[in-house]
Amino acid sequence: MSSDCCDVSLDIPSNGTFYFRRTTEIHTAPVLDIKPTFVFSSGDHVIYDKILKRDNHQWISYIGYDYERYYADIATLTPAKSETPTVKTTETNQAKPETRGAEKLPVSGTYNVTRSLNVKNEPKASAETLYTLEEDYKVNYDKVLTADNPQWISYISYSGIRRYVDIATLKATESKPQENRVSGDLTIRNQTFNGFDVVVTNVWGGGKTVQEVRVPIWSNKNGQDNLTWYHGDKQSDGSYKVHVDTSSHKGDTGSYSIHLYYVLDGKRIYVTETRDTAIPASESQVSGKLTNNGSYYSVRGKYDDIIIVDKEHGLSKDYNPGENSTAKAAFVRLRDVMINQGLNVGRSYSGFRSYDYQKTLYDNYVSRDGQEAADRYSARPGFSEHQTGLVFDLTDKSGNLLEDARASQWLKDNTHNYGFIVRFQEGKEASTGYMPEAWHIRYVGKEAKDIHDSGLSLEEYFGIDGGDYATSSKPAESKPVTTGVNLPAIGTYTFTGRASIKAEAKVSSPELAYYDKGMSVNYDKVLTVDGRTWLSYMTMSGARRYVNIA
Ligand SMILES: [Zn+2]
Repeated sequence: MSSDCCDVSLDIPSNGTFYFRRTTEIHTAPVLDIKPTFVFSSGDHVIYDKILKRDNHQWISYIGYDYERYYADIATLTPAKSETPTVKTTETNQAKPETRGAEKLPVSGTYNVTRSLNVKNEPKASAETLYTLEEDYKVNYDKVLTADNPQWISYISYSGIRRYVDIATLKATESKPQENRVSGDLTIRNQTFNGFDVVVTNVWGGGKTVQEVRVPIWSNKNGQDNLTWYHGDKQSDGSYKVHVDTSSHKGDTGSYSIHLYYVLDGKRIYVTETRDTAIPASESQVSGKLTNNGSYYSVRGKYDDIIIVDKEHGLSKDYNPGENSTAKAAFVRLRDVMINQGLNVGRSYSGFRSYDYQKTLYDNYVSRDGQEAADRYSARPGFSEHQTGLVFDLTDKSGNLLEDARASQWLKDNTHNYGFIVRFQEGKEASTGYMPEAWHIRYVGKEAKDIHDSGLSLEEYFGIDGGDYATSSKPAESKPVTTGVNLPAIGTYTFTGRASIKAEAKVSSPELAYYDKGMSVNYDKVLTVDGRTWLSYMTMSGARRYVNIA
């Protein structure tokens, strides 16, 4: 820390846990001018890894659970008397704009600062520099403009004043649009597993009116077999937008070819193209991504991990989660709606079954009918989906398993709206391993709709092997925990020492933040990976995190 005579900064370690003593706004850069992204209350704490002085304030900085760096101002520094330089002047180095090409940027978004940039009140090179933004800062801007040679991004400051950041000084040739050549920029945005948007900016018809913006798009799998000509919809800011659903392109993942044409004087003129990888294959291709945590197999779905149980993928006999309360609540809603609609549905149901209970059932069937027959209608212990607590068998008003045609059809058409799928359907026996069962519904949460809409079985949807028992079929082994840690599957854990928070249960995965002795976490999973015991939980933003505890 500085040994300045007038230093009123807090004397805290260079990293550690900081408890806020007042309501504190959190910024994406150590600049008060930038709108805060959220607020901590007095008593909240944060694990910081940096202290710095900027903008007449002392700041702590930390990496949030979303991997972004944040800054909290913890003390206002008194500017030193006139004989000593002020903090502001010592910290403000006038950034020298370099001559470089214009950056291709979306019309609004977050700009990552990669070198010192000057912030001004006007988009003029001669305007006074208010302060500089340093490397690694982020700015949420709402405008990109070219004026007075430099390229600028602009944002509304916290105090409501518009600011301009000089991000590139354009070469003289670039600042003049070439009169007769058509031009435009393609930017891919809002990528999800289901699709993306294409935004066309800087639309220039070479002096002619652009009558239409046309965007042919196809996935790079199997040539142009799914080529679609899209019409760009004009946006209020002059850009054009196209929304692409992968379902219109055979659900293909991986890279897409996107070309841009303008219609000028009734003729289609080629402008530019891109082959951006629009649907990242590594994330959407869950096939081969089955993991086994010692209790069950799961795949990473779009919104959460999804447990897979079939004749190929069993559960540990120790896995005994009981009825899942979220699934149960959804089931009750669904069942009551069906009853209220006058369908032949009863109130009784068959839900969670423990391993031991399934073993008793199965053994009885085998001794009565023989194994071959028993396997046709009953799951072996460890292979019943009912052991997950996520499955419910509906009954009719007489208490029999639901087979009523109208009710069965209603389930096929509506059950995904409640987070369920009809697990065993006609024509899917080869992948599910079971004859159709109208009554057996499986809770998968939000992704139920995607699975329903795909028309695929759960196994087909995730591209995993199913079908009948393989000779290799065996329940997920409950691996002995060699570390001596014996924890419930879900609970609260209080740390006895420093523990790293990671995005993956891997020793090599970088530390995002850490827990200190005495802090606690509500976890929903315990797993052994890489020879270590990990706790896992979901963050507020929905990302899964892992903490190595032993
Ligand atoms: Zn069932």
